[in-house]
Amino acid sequence: MAPPVRPRVFVTRKLPGEALGRLGRQVELRVWEDELPPPREVLLEEARGVDGLITLLTDRVDEPLLAAAPSLRAVSNVAVGYDNIDVGACSARGIAVGNTPGVLTETTADFAFALLMGLARRVVEADAYVRAGRWRTWSPTLLLGAELHGATLGLVGLGKIGAAMARRAHGFGMRVLYFSRHARPALEAELGLRRVDKATLLAESDFLSLHVPLTPETRHWLGRAELAAMKPGAMLVNTARGTVVDQDALVEALSRGHLGGAALDVTEPEPLPMDSPLLKLPNVLLAPHIASASHVTRGRMASMAVDNLLAALEGRRPPHCVNPELFK
Ligand code: NAP
Repeated sequence: MAPPVRPRVFVTRKLPGEALGRLGRQVELRVWEDELPPPREVLLEEARGVDGLITLLTDRVDEPLLAAAPSLRAVSNVAVGYDNIDVGACSARGIAVGNTPGVLTETTADFAFALLMGLARRVVEADAYVRAGRWRTWSPTLLLGAELHGATLGLVGLGKIGAAMARRAHGFGMRVLYFSRHARPALEAELGLRRVDKATLLAESDFLSLHVPLTPETRHWLGRAELAAMKPGAMLVNTARGTVVDQDALVEALSRGHLGGAALDVTEPEPLPMDSPLLKLPNVLLAPHIASASHVTRGRMASMAVDNLLAALEGRRPPHCVNPELFK
């Protein structure tokens, strides 16, 4: 008897940990080995004959790709966000979509808080100052920053990462406000948070930190009018998605000195071009989309993505599925 045909899977990048080894023992596996994402035409070609895809945020899974991949049954994204995937188009074709929520929550909040502290206390500027040989004496006015304790942190979105951020801020003696479509009364009681409307959040926050997914509703959530409504000197932390902010308006608000600073792990586009005005602003701290980048978390994300994919290929509902209605 011929051995059973193994499903064919394409993975768009090497992943850390043991997950790909495990996957390779169960499927016919092809992995894109380059550091840069597969070019669009390569992705379309690779997708043509496969049953499953493991994708990253850099890989667009849209109608043209699905049309080119008639045997595709599962798409597993190595991220909690899935704005790179047209989920509706996948559902219409019966293709399960998985993501990796939860495992990166604390790691991402750690980095968002690191950005908040780095921005407030000018850590990167201080390092550059010392390295440039400019440190001549202790000075009472050298590199003065903003205080976190006693300041107000405004959270946009109080999901998993927003809540983890609220816990950290509470521990640092900050007052925490949040804006979210649904109230979280248990968290409000536990951490003394207050749910407010958008106008109040913008007017009262010394620091604003974004934790919403990118959706049509949250695109440019922080636009020109919202930036103008922020407290003068307030600072922004963005570890959500670049497009949640109107970046041109942000550059203006920073250049005019209306905002005190911004720390951005995510930008529009990514990577940021070297002629981006953001790179010229001294009050901006930038990172290359690494908020979830710890050894442990990236290994867990890869493992979860493989679990999701294998379940879908076996016709089971992936443990973390963004279109679970397919399995009802
Ligand atoms: P989550 O648990 O689903 O939380 C998202 C929250 O956003 C929800 O609680 C939701 O609350 C709120 N929300 C959604 N739409 C909203 C809207 N229109 N207005 C106000 N609030 C809205 O997701 P998470 O795990 O915290 O992750 C959040 C996002 O962080 C991800 O989608 C991803 O884009 C980003 N992320 C980035 C990195 C990185 O490396 N930089 C790492 C992980 C995640 P309501 O439904 O009550 O409004």
